[in-house]
Amino acid sequence: MNKPVKQHLIDPEICIRCYTCEMTCPVGAIEHDDNNVVVNADSCNFCMDCIPVCPTGSIDEWRVVVEPYSLEAQYSWEELPEQEELGQDEAATGLEALDDAMAALLAEAHKGAGGKAKAPATAAKPSINMYNLGKPATAKITGNYPLTDDPEHDVRHIILDLGNLPFPVLEGQSVGIIPPGTDAEGKPHLPRLYSVSSPRDGERPGFNNLSLTVKREAGGLCSNYLCDLPTGAEVQVTGPFGATFLLPADAEAKLLMICTGTGSAPMRAFTMRRQRTLNGPSGGMTMFFGARTKKSLPYFGPLSKVPKSLLEQHLVYSREGEKEYVQDRLIAEEEKVAELLADPKTHIYICGLRGMEEGVERAFTTIAESIGEQWIAMRDVMREDGRYHVETY
Ligand code: NAP
Repeated sequence: MNKPVKQHLIDPEICIRCYTCEMTCPVGAIEHDDNNVVVNADSCNFCMDCIPVCPTGSIDEWRVVVEPYSLEAQYSWEELPEQEELGQDEAATGLEALDDAMAALLAEAHKGAGGKAKAPATAAKPSINMYNLGKPATAKITGNYPLTDDPEHDVRHIILDLGNLPFPVLEGQSVGIIPPGTDAEGKPHLPRLYSVSSPRDGERPGFNNLSLTVKREAGGLCSNYLCDLPTGAEVQVTGPFGATFLLPADAEAKLLMICTGTGSAPMRAFTMRRQRTLNGPSGGMTMFFGARTKKSLPYFGPLSKVPKSLLEQHLVYSREGEKEYVQDRLIAEEEKVAELLADPKTHIYICGLRGMEEGVERAFTTIAESIGEQWIAMRDVMREDGRYHVETY
């Protein structure tokens, strides 16, 4: 009889196809086709290097199997299979030692960003991976506007029109953009991921369009391509991706949104969705938004027009006057944040720079202690409830 083995898998529903795991794996055990990103059971050595780099936690899936799932099987999946029922003998055979070693490695790896998340219980069901590398959607650029007034920090609001193509997106989802041309090995470039910054009914209500918030990166292939595109140009789009960083439908849900720079994209989508649909009292939204300066904060102008009753804003600057990060402001607003942390209606969203996550976790630890709570325990409950969402790269 074959011994059961623990197999490392990727959840195709949650994976946003950023390929970071594939680029990180030191033994080349992760690969992709046009559809999915998969793990080769023959080469994966459980080093866990891919776990902390995954922005969504979709990489953190394990099944105990007698016969590992083949690459072909994994490529065909739209969702992960459930854990199979194993016979008693199979389940008991030789897994304990492996489990101890893996638990230790995983505990270390989980200190990274992302983490396994669940969608809010009342979120709408997202469409995923409708357009892939082999069959991307073609969109037309219908707008490309500067969002910052800082030549060193060019961030753009780019509007894509999907014409007659069905392309349903929910707030919080991402799309891939395939830059034209080939890489050094002559292969087509992989798509680059961007969070959608418009709500589900379109950048303009009723139009089949969406917007992205793109920062020009020095030497960045896709960001320069996108930021330079004129109106009328066509782009190849994959997606939509992401099944957990979603908005609860419940109007009473309280949203605590923490972001830096272009990580504000999904927060804009959430705000616009609520602005367009709420016609009565709501749980409210509180945003902590960090940027270098006022001039480099995306959407500074439009944000000033959002009513305070809809969105409480804490705009925080690191290079204007005294240096301040979002986590510093969370501490400065300790009482308000503590009240939100303790409220079972609160949903937390964190998006932006990878480095911010650690600082925010530290601030939450301090704030939780101020009300006699343990942040890690609170966070685990929130995650399990679909109320804690992190997307940092
Ligand atoms: P940025 O301008 O470089 O930074 C924004 C602000 O964050 C600055 O004030 C910066 O301060 C501050 N900051 C730097 N390190 C920090 C830390 N450890 N804790 C708290 N704040 C910190 O931001 P950006 O260039 O727009 O980059 C945004 C990032 O978000 C990118 O890495 C992008 O890939 C990511 N992003 C992720 C998603 C997603 O996951 N869905 C979506 C959009 C963007 P100083 O520079 O002055 O130190």
